[in-house]
Amino acid sequence: MKKKILIADDEPTNRIILHRMLSCYGDCDVVVDGTEVIDAFVMALEENTPYDLICLDIMMPIMTGCEALKKIREIEHSMAINPVDRVSVIMITAVDKTNELIELTEDSCASYMMKPINKSTLIQRITDIGLLS
Ligand SMILES: [Mg+2]
Repeated sequence: MKKKILIADDEPTNRIILHRMLSCYGDCDVVVDGTEVIDAFVMALEENTPYDLICLDIMMPIMTGCEALKKIREIEHSMAINPVDRVSVIMITAVDKTNELIELTEDSCASYMMKPINKSTLIQRITDIGLLS
């Protein structure tokens, strides 16, 4: 079955790149900041068509990717969503803050990768998560 993917990045070029890389793996929605991530995430849950994967840029205005990730996990917790059914998240960052990222991603069960976005790394991450066989 086709995956449902949410792409979040404030830079238009990165949104285009991610969309091109991922559109063959699923239906991709694209948003530009953390609040839009939450809106899209909640809407999908309410429509009973949750996302399989969120690619989340960390540096975004209004609400950062880190804040959005925390909020997503809070919402899933408040809705008593089974941990195995939580959405898979790949955090994407331009700056190397590996230690902080490892802590954040371990806490929130997310994966991460560095920019520039590299297709084989991205596909490897998605495979590691178990979304591609
Ligand atoms: Mg950004």
